[in-house]
Amino acid sequence: MIDKVDVLSLNLKELQDFVIDLGEKPFRARQIFKWLHQKGISSFNELTDISKNFRSKLFEKAKLQKAYLVKKFVSVEDNTTKYLFKIENDYIIESVLMKYEYGNAVCISSQAGCAMGCTFCASTVGGLERNLTAGEMLSQVYEIQKDSGERVSNIVIMGSGEPLCNFENSVKFLELINSKDGLEIGHRHITLSTCGIVDKIKELANLKLQITLAISLHAPNNFIRKKIMPIANKYSVDELIFAAKEYADFTKRRVTFEYALIDGINDSEDCARELAERLRGSLSHVNLIPINDVEERNYKRSSDKTVKVFCEILKSLNIEATVRRKLGSDINAACGQLRKRYLKT
Ligand code: SAH
Repeated sequence: MIDKVDVLSLNLKELQDFVIDLGEKPFRARQIFKWLHQKGISSFNELTDISKNFRSKLFEKAKLQKAYLVKKFVSVEDNTTKYLFKIENDYIIESVLMKYEYGNAVCISSQAGCAMGCTFCASTVGGLERNLTAGEMLSQVYEIQKDSGERVSNIVIMGSGEPLCNFENSVKFLELINSKDGLEIGHRHITLSTCGIVDKIKELANLKLQITLAISLHAPNNFIRKKIMPIANKYSVDELIFAAKEYADFTKRRVTFEYALIDGINDSEDCARELAERLRGSLSHVNLIPINDVEERNYKRSSDKTVKVFCEILKSLNIEATVRRKLGSDINAACGQLRKRYLKT
């Protein structure tokens, strides 16, 4: 049996080729593209302006592989909503809607599960289940926009999974979300977060996209990084920071280093000074994140005072640093935490 075509992951040109193969006029492609990407349809039956015959050809040859909303949790503390979606093969993924003054940001997943094994992260506990298609990544945004009734202005690829280990689909997602006949969200409003797959950062730099690259650094040296992030056994901190420098040179975009502060692990004043030393001279910004506690590991969030001191040291050494406002901690809004709890029950 020939696999049905995943039409939600096709760009306009590919969709045109597909409709021509079905014996239809090429202009039909744009019509369908808009239904898929601007209206976010859930069935080909909703394509009311094409013939019944064409619709049945679509049912036969194509599929709508998207994320279907299963459950949502609204935070009582702030305007954060966490969504659980079901995708093909019944995998569960999660996304978050965060409302800021500047607009609505959605945090999407790029994989079901994750293979990276970071010790503080809930997404990786069951390993990698599978890569998401570009369409499954897109539909998280479309469904959240439909559910909230408000426009999504910003996207962070910072949910479950390592986007650079799902490189092709992530790049396709970036192309489609920016498409004129889709939501047309500008790349400057999109952040891609990686644990630091150096080879892939280079590949991404070569594409010269205007997205923001965020690198989950979380440690100032290899010794500490290896204790919390297995990827540090493959790429050293220096290699990673060098790749970030190259990325900034190529794209002229400032790189963000994420640094989750874990009590007693990576939050000492020495760590702050060493980090500043390492980052000196790079076009970058450090985003400090008070970690969400991980009971299994006995990891605790650093105290507010420690976070403040860490931030002050970086700034005094001329490293740009901010502390991320924590949103939705009452609904397990950190990477993979909600999904983990949902699967448990
Ligand atoms: N794989 C990518 C993107 C997914 S993780 C990456 O590593 O960047 C998204 C962010 O959430 C990363 O910075 C990750 O380190 C962070 N994160 C994971 N678990 C966390 C926790 N318990 N508390 C705070 N941040 C966490």
